[in-house]
Amino acid sequence: MKKEAFVTKELIEEIVKTYPTPFHIYDEKGIRANAKALREAFAWNPGYKEFFAVKATPNPFLIDILREYGCGCDCSSRTELMLSHAMGVKGEDIMFSSNDTPAEEFAYAAKIGATINLDDFTHIAFLEETIGYLPKTLSCRYNPGGYFSISNNIMDNPGDAKYGFTTEQLFEGFKILKQKGVENFGIHAFLASNTVTNEYYPTLARKLFETAVKLKEETGAHITFINLSGGIGVPYRPDQEPNDILVIGEGVRKVYEEILVPAGMGDVAIYTELGRFMMAPYGHLVTKVLHEKHTYKEYIGVDACAVNLMRPAMYGAYHHITVLGKEDAPCDHVYDVTGSLCENNDKFAIDRELPEIEIGDYLAIHDTGAHGYAMGYNYNGKLKSAELLLHEDGSVELIRRAETPRDYFATFDCFDIFKQIDFE
Ligand SMILES: *Cc1c(COP(=O)(O)O)cnc(C)c1O
Repeated sequence: MKKEAFVTKELIEEIVKTYPTPFHIYDEKGIRANAKALREAFAWNPGYKEFFAVKATPNPFLIDILREYGCGCDCSSRTELMLSHAMGVKGEDIMFSSNDTPAEEFAYAAKIGATINLDDFTHIAFLEETIGYLPKTLSCRYNPGGYFSISNNIMDNPGDAKYGFTTEQLFEGFKILKQKGVENFGIHAFLASNTVTNEYYPTLARKLFETAVKLKEETGAHITFINLSGGIGVPYRPDQEPNDILVIGEGVRKVYEEILVPAGMGDVAIYTELGRFMMAPYGHLVTKVLHEKHTYKEYIGVDACAVNLMRPAMYGAYHHITVLGKEDAPCDHVYDVTGSLCENNDKFAIDRELPEIEIGDYLAIHDTGAHGYAMGYNYNGKLKSAELLLHEDGSVELIRRAETPRDYFATFDCFDIFKQIDFE
């Protein structure tokens, strides 16, 4: 499928008069259409709720759009909980799916009434000690171990992942929690990441639903929700077929009716914690070409770098690039597109076929709406960019300003050196 940018060269030339590159820009129209489709895909389940994985794109303006479609928040840390709470998200609409959790984060989650998803058997005692009681509703994260496969295709390796209870621990944990007075139980699992197949959720659902039936039979626990978590992917590459969320929702419904309904569990709510699927395609990192370099290879140097988008450097991830204004030009040049970090892996693309690029061109780097800005850091003293929202009416709003040197040096503000810094 041809990947097209949701911005044009003309629009970017207008925007940079106010907001210089690099920046992340998000497409409100795309976010809304996708959130609506997700809601429709699971409308068959009355309790259905998407808890948006805040870590993917922790921006309140974007999360507020999702809330219009019934989404809550899935948080992994105290600051994410603070943000969700400050936005007025109600406790029951906040999931706290963390691991290796510090005591104060459990305490804060309990204080604001978030649903706690325990990552480990030992956290039952740790939570009880920390807050002095166990909430009436609790969830446990399940890791069945081994490999996770879909029709003989290995998707991921949960046996090698740090997350979750083993099968034995899950059954034992439910028994203990029930004895201790927990009334409503949830099961959560995240067994494969960035899956581009309509089979992931239905396959995962089957595993979880079968486990839920056994748990109910063996422990008598009242299971009120099953959380399929994240993992629905997006087609980063042009040759990938996008997921069809309606087909995925239908696939989960079939398994639900086959396994849960006959077991008398037709009232179980389905939860999801999607991050990437909700946002990734609706963000671009827009960057300007500063330099061309001809050495042993052809390099294009841009004004963004890996601190703005870490995935290529960290995972060798592919992110499609559109040279704005040259959408229809032949891709008859081969470039490495680089940032300015003193790190040779600071490359947005390696040996990429692109149209001929000139200094001053604007590039739209695709699919940066999730795990993009959010993974940013400050190596080499680089500052984080602004985030902009392209509204449906074509107007553009600043939804996070760019960092300034004052932000970068703020943690020295109690030291004398701070007064010596020339911010002019
Ligand atoms: C990261 C994460 C998600 C979101 O994952 P995506 O791949 O962005 O869908 C959901 N739940 C948990 C617990 C996570 O760690």
